[in-house]
Amino acid sequence: VPAAARPPGGLVLVVEDEPQIAEVLEAYLRRDGFGVARAGDGPSALHLHERVRPDLVLLDVMLPGLDGFEVLRRLRADRTRPSTPVILLTARDEDVDRISGLRTGADDYVVKPFSPPEVVARVQAVLRRARAAGTPAPLRLGPLEIDALGTAVRVHDVALDLTATEYRLLELLAGSPGRTFTRAQLLAAALPDSAALDRVVDAHLGNLRRKLAAAGAPAMIETVRGFGYRLGVPSAR
Ligand code: CA
Repeated sequence: VPAAARPPGGLVLVVEDEPQIAEVLEAYLRRDGFGVARAGDGPSALHLHERVRPDLVLLDVMLPGLDGFEVLRRLRADRTRPSTPVILLTARDEDVDRISGLRTGADDYVVKPFSPPEVVARVQAVLRRARAAGTPAPLRLGPLEIDALGTAVRVHDVALDLTATEYRLLELLAGSPGRTFTRAQLLAAALPDSAALDRVVDAHLGNLRRKLAAAGAPAMIETVRGFGYRLGVPSAR
């Protein structure tokens, strides 16, 4: 499944040898915006997992070929890739004992007979957790928020339009709030290949201060006379 064709909710691989159960799960998942791939036994589950790279696997424990525990063990054995979240579908009390007693590596499990909406809710919860764990949290300092993934900076939830140099300066200052950086350090971080003078840093920081102030965060960047600049540590609220 090419990335562009991925359904908005994510792609779920349903591994279940009982067709009626698989069909009901597929219908409920699709209704909630998920794409669905289906496998009816262990070996084809592994094959399909390799081919379609699902966002989550709903994995029945009692399967022909390889049982769900073995499929899960093999999925987890591949340490070259980030592991796919797995929810086990289990029918029996013994399975539950085994799932809860052993470290199977499953993210959650559901006991049959289940209600399909409950399964969909578990799928959504596990995917939320997995996505939250995979995304670095933005850096937050008082009203200031710096996106760890890109170059987005927000003040009071309003995006600032910064130049690359201003962004690098702010990123450096905000990475160590309260620490004073010399102009030479700021220059090295923001304009590494330039022979710019220290006063260039003053000019860029002046612009940055104006933008922060206009967005409602004045006085965040402090001048430390004789040394350089620092980002003030906002008081806890
Ligand atoms: Ca089964």
